[in-house]
Amino acid sequence: MKHIPKRILVPGAGFRLVGAARLAVVFLGLLVCFAPHAAPASDRTAGLLSTPLEASAFQRLTMEAERSEYLRALTQYPAKRLTVQLQAIGETVQKRPMEALLVQARDPQEDASGVPLRVLLLGGQHGNEVSGSEALLIFARQWLTRVETDGSPFAMTLLIVPAVNPDGIANKRRVNAQGVNLSTDYGLLQAPESTAINRLLVEFQPHVVLDIHESALLKKKTLGAEGWLTDFEAQFEYANNPNVNGDLKTFTSDVLLPAILKNVESKGLAAHRYFGEITRTDQVVQHGGLSAHNFRNKAGIHGAVSFLLENRLDPSIGVYPTPRNIRERVEKQLLSIDVFLSVCQAHAAQIVALTESARNFGAQESRKVFLQPEYGILPAQPTIDIALRRLESNEKVMHRFRYRGAIIAGPASMAPKRYVFMSHIGFFRQWLVKQGIPFAEGASPEQAPYVTAEVNSVNGRFLPLFLEPASASSILGRLPFDTEGLKVLSDPR
Ligand SMILES: [Zn+2]
Repeated sequence: MKHIPKRILVPGAGFRLVGAARLAVVFLGLLVCFAPHAAPASDRTAGLLSTPLEASAFQRLTMEAERSEYLRALTQYPAKRLTVQLQAIGETVQKRPMEALLVQARDPQEDASGVPLRVLLLGGQHGNEVSGSEALLIFARQWLTRVETDGSPFAMTLLIVPAVNPDGIANKRRVNAQGVNLSTDYGLLQAPESTAINRLLVEFQPHVVLDIHESALLKKKTLGAEGWLTDFEAQFEYANNPNVNGDLKTFTSDVLLPAILKNVESKGLAAHRYFGEITRTDQVVQHGGLSAHNFRNKAGIHGAVSFLLENRLDPSIGVYPTPRNIRERVEKQLLSIDVFLSVCQAHAAQIVALTESARNFGAQESRKVFLQPEYGILPAQPTIDIALRRLESNEKVMHRFRYRGAIIAGPASMAPKRYVFMSHIGFFRQWLVKQGIPFAEGASPEQAPYVTAEVNSVNGRFLPLFLEPASASSILGRLPFDTEGLKVLSDPR
């Protein structure tokens, strides 16, 4: 293991830490609390409740106000075994509300396991992948029906966010209204939407996370321009960053992923481990991104069993029974979500144990970091065969791609004990609050104010990942201000 040397990340004046007793400890904590709306049961017949998409026979997507109204109606579901609460979790750039549905056992004894899995389900991080959002609306009602009417056993507390990116959905864009790709904003947290979701990670502490997406078969400007379409139904990726707790990662990759794929297949939907975007026929194929900026990995490093789901987004050029095949797309997502949750439920006790232990590691362990993970060649499998379809004839043709299937963690580093922010203090104070990392404020003997945060603190292990210049997930090159004069110091003691 190599040590990260004590280093002034950006040259600046000499610095000495003052005694801890003189630090004014300011832990702002997290300001948004879970304040549920009351959800009294009523006589409303749940069977009649359908989503706007269902009500239109899959001809028309759910509008923003309708989504809210539908979620509110779910809280009126005549539930005896469950409580259903709608929570305001944030506000978008264009001031749209962000909402989450919390569904849990009314009586903890009712829960089948005694240790309910806390599950966070996200849809619509990319506003142009609408089926996940629609599927979660339907799923929420189906879950209530199954538990309340069919009496299905359950062992989960669900926090469902059908629309992570309401502006993107309204504007039919992948990104939010600032042009930020929310899915990879979990390092910098520059968007209010990703900040709200990150807060759920910190406060709800999910054991399980599923981030639901679609992937377009037709990429007009790249693979499509070469005359090819991709061809798949469902792909899953787990949190593969080497900073995810080892036991948790092994269980996720070796037990959960194969069980999920097998069970999705057995229900008639072809499934495989996620491949990164295929944009050229001569490219190298590897799996999901390794960065801690993406939500899947952020949640995994937090200690959750964390998966990405992508289902097939059919090309706009096809002819389908419903607009852009939305009915089938939603059904595939529902099937994938159901299988995913049933596999997690079957392994609930192990997931809870692994997750809790991943979150309670020792001080030494919390400073061990892998800064530069990368993909490498698997000697046993240097190539991989993947089916593509000809755009013109739809003929299926196997292609052999060079394949980088090995994740190389790289050398482990020992992070410094703390980081000290001596410039842009306002920005970093806010960033630490958003990340859920406690910090202290003080002044140097020369009266220069600073903010300092410890690696061995709650969520502090993200500090080296995001602040070391050598880290593949460093935010230093992406800061939203001129970094001339930036002074972030590290202290090994
Ligand atoms: Zn997506």
